[in-house]
Amino acid sequence: MLPGILEQTHEWVSERLPTGGTAVDATMGNGHDLRFLADHVGNAGRVFGFDIQEEAVTRSRLRLEKESLAHRVVLFHDSHEKMKHHLYSQGVLHIDAAMFNLGYLPHGDPAITTQPEATLDAMRQAAEMLHPGGILTAVLYTGHPGGQTEADRVLMWLEELDPKQYQTVRYQILNREHAPLLTAVCKR
Ligand code: SAM
Repeated sequence: MLPGILEQTHEWVSERLPTGGTAVDATMGNGHDLRFLADHVGNAGRVFGFDIQEEAVTRSRLRLEKESLAHRVVLFHDSHEKMKHHLYSQGVLHIDAAMFNLGYLPHGDPAITTQPEATLDAMRQAAEMLHPGGILTAVLYTGHPGGQTEADRVLMWLEELDPKQYQTVRYQILNREHAPLLTAVCKR
């Protein structure tokens, strides 16, 4: 079988995020991607996480503490639109990888979801901050209210990114209803 969406996301990120590298989880949620990033960068690496829900920050922190990875991460209870502001204040101007997993917090309030304007603002900041060879991944969901609109806006942005600076791709299981869509941006 070919890899599922989350497996493929982690594979693409693993190939481009070096040990000792710097990564961002723009939507921490339950902290699964954050844990993956913190594990991958090693003790010399740094990972910055964002989420607007206190519950997500707490769940993520607990997950990292349980696996003794908390010292590799800095968590912000704030919108990913403030990414540049917070990273610059930590002295970080460039990143190797940024992960966005859109939609709502699993086992949380399904009415609190990512919003197209904030998502695109944050994605623009992350794409700009990527080192050459760095990667931004975004998993898009269409099964919840507003999800299709957000996915369409992200796809439109990806299609219009300057091909001289970025390569953008998509990956999706086709024979499944409302299958999530993995998209990625690589900086040349
Ligand atoms: N990557 C997560 C994981 O591994 O468990 C799952 C993320 S979940 C699908 C989406 C998350 O995005 C929710 O926890 C939600 O609170 C968060 N979110 C929504 N709007 C946001 C924003 N403007 N900035 C940061 N996080 C946001």
